[in-house]
Amino acid sequence: MSRDGDRIVFSSGVGRVCPRCRKPEARCRCREELAAKKVPPGDGVVRVRREVQGRHGKTVTTISGVPLGSDSLRDLAAELKRRCGSGGTAKDGVIEIQGEHVETVMAELAARGYRVKRAGG
Ligand SMILES: [Zn+2]
Repeated sequence: MSRDGDRIVFSSGVGRVCPRCRKPEARCRCREELAAKKVPPGDGVVRVRREVQGRHGKTVTTISGVPLGSDSLRDLAAELKRRCGSGGTAKDGVIEIQGEHVETVMAELAARGYRVKRAGG
């Protein structure tokens, strides 16, 4: 009798590392943790902030407090970058969009049902 049906094969290797807990995504428990708590990290308010970085004063728009796992956060970042027609990154739970896009980002997030607050100046 074949035992093949009982074998569990892990074929995908280590792959990506979770930016939140720094573990390989296969061992990451962030999503389960957040789901178990049933409340988003922080106070549930997404904060959008205009920041000036570096000595040349490059303006970026940062979005923090988004209650999403790393994959979903990357997806949201991609969508926001499209909306703003700009580049950006998503890491350590913070999305960063190049340029001044506070209004666009806030409108987009509000349309998706997030509680959004403008932070900083
Ligand atoms: Zn994680």
